[in-house]
Amino acid sequence: MRKKIKKTEVRVRLAPSPTGPLHLGTARTALFNFLFARQHNGKFILRIEDTDFERSKTEYEREIIEGLKWLGLNWDEGPDIGGPCGPYRQSQRVDIYKKYLERLLAEGKAYYCFCSRQELEKMRQYYQSIGQPPRYSGKCRDLSQKEVEKRIAQGQPYVIRFKINPKKIIFKDLIRGKIEFDVSAFGDFVIAKNFHQPLYNFAVVVDDYEMKINHVIRGEDHISNTPKQILLQEALGFPPVKYAHLPLILGPDKSKLSKRHGATSVSAYRKEGYLPEALINFLALLGWNPGDNREIFSLNSLVKEFSIDRIQKSGAIFNISRLDWINGFYIRQKSRERLLDLVLPYWLNDGLIQQTDFPGQFLIKETKEIVDRNYLKQIAVLYQTRIKKLSEIAPETDFFFLKDIKYPKELLIWKDFEVKEIKTQLEKLQNVLFEISEAKWSKEEIEKKVLEKANRLKDRGVMLWPFRVALTGKKGSAGPFEIAAILGKEKTLQRIKKAISLL
Ligand code: GLU
Repeated sequence: MRKKIKKTEVRVRLAPSPTGPLHLGTARTALFNFLFARQHNGKFILRIEDTDFERSKTEYEREIIEGLKWLGLNWDEGPDIGGPCGPYRQSQRVDIYKKYLERLLAEGKAYYCFCSRQELEKMRQYYQSIGQPPRYSGKCRDLSQKEVEKRIAQGQPYVIRFKINPKKIIFKDLIRGKIEFDVSAFGDFVIAKNFHQPLYNFAVVVDDYEMKINHVIRGEDHISNTPKQILLQEALGFPPVKYAHLPLILGPDKSKLSKRHGATSVSAYRKEGYLPEALINFLALLGWNPGDNREIFSLNSLVKEFSIDRIQKSGAIFNISRLDWINGFYIRQKSRERLLDLVLPYWLNDGLIQQTDFPGQFLIKETKEIVDRNYLKQIAVLYQTRIKKLSEIAPETDFFFLKDIKYPKELLIWKDFEVKEIKTQLEKLQNVLFEISEAKWSKEEIEKKVLEKANRLKDRGVMLWPFRVALTGKKGSAGPFEIAAILGKEKTLQRIKKAISLL
């Protein structure tokens, strides 16, 4: 039964199969559907396509739902929230499909096929030998009603095939324009393995009709399914829908994006510390552009700016450095407090710090010191402009939490200065720092006092470089004054002393 839904309401859907984690391509399809629905005050529907019993897993369904929610792509109807056209999981809609299968059979638009695997293989070989695409010969098309009933009564296995009448299917794709298919090459295709197991092309057509979907926005890999779906719509007397097929996402080598190119699941990017708003922004630009050179778009601004007309036909190349750049931008927008909340799990997971029983207090694992949120916030903020993804925080800032930092002593050497010279400068630095009282120990004071000395040198790097390396053990890091201020006087002096002893 069709529920009352306004005829003019724009209704789109995302129809993922829960046979793997949420893929970036599916997330982009979700985004474009979401934007289209929001722009037209329409409805965005989530439908889980789990007709493939063997490959579908509830864990994947959960992961897909969680990933979409994390991205902020909320739907109006779906398996978790219900809606007027439910259930929204194909495995729960078997009775609905059965009704339409029976109708097609009764009207002679579909038929039972009893051909064995061997027979089908023979057909395939035959068509190949005469240089034609393999297809079903139509052998069971005209079996008499009696014959069919007899074979079913005997328990012969069957599938249900759709009868194809040779013709041209032409449809206008909102992105790709006119697309034409000659369906005679298809042969009568299988629409259900039996009454409990409908196949994709058939179930999609029934569901899109029953759910009153009027725009199908999905990946280009479904273009070849579209003529079959249109034939089924026509046979069932369903109104046509509008199609928009999104360009493929390609790796840098221009082949279809796959695991060979790196992670393809949303959860992997989430784990690495990409922010949902950055992924949304990035995915929007995979195949769509605003017509000028702006690169930063929030979900809300996309709702205003997005248009299907500006989606490109050619493949969209996945450029990780663009994602990094966008992510860095959003990290820099975070308030100090929010930034700390975002990076904390990475320090915790890397085992640098631990929660204590007191909220807001953390134990540094190696040194056994207790630090509070304010202390950690200073470190997070110092690195806010330096990290491109949240996971970088732990390896970049580990020296704040380690008892003993390790580095090759050669790293202390600035340019081609003599070891002796570096040592002398570190000793001078040690004296300067020693003179600063604990009470005055701050970035400003350290900077002022150290620069008074360093600026008198021909090349102040000879003091500032080993200063920074002594504190961090790293080639690159934030500046030494800020780091020394956070580390405190005692640790700063200890590290300088250690550096001197190495030389
Ligand atoms: N279930 C299909 C898939 O996951 C999508 C079907 C469609 O959008 O028509 O690729």
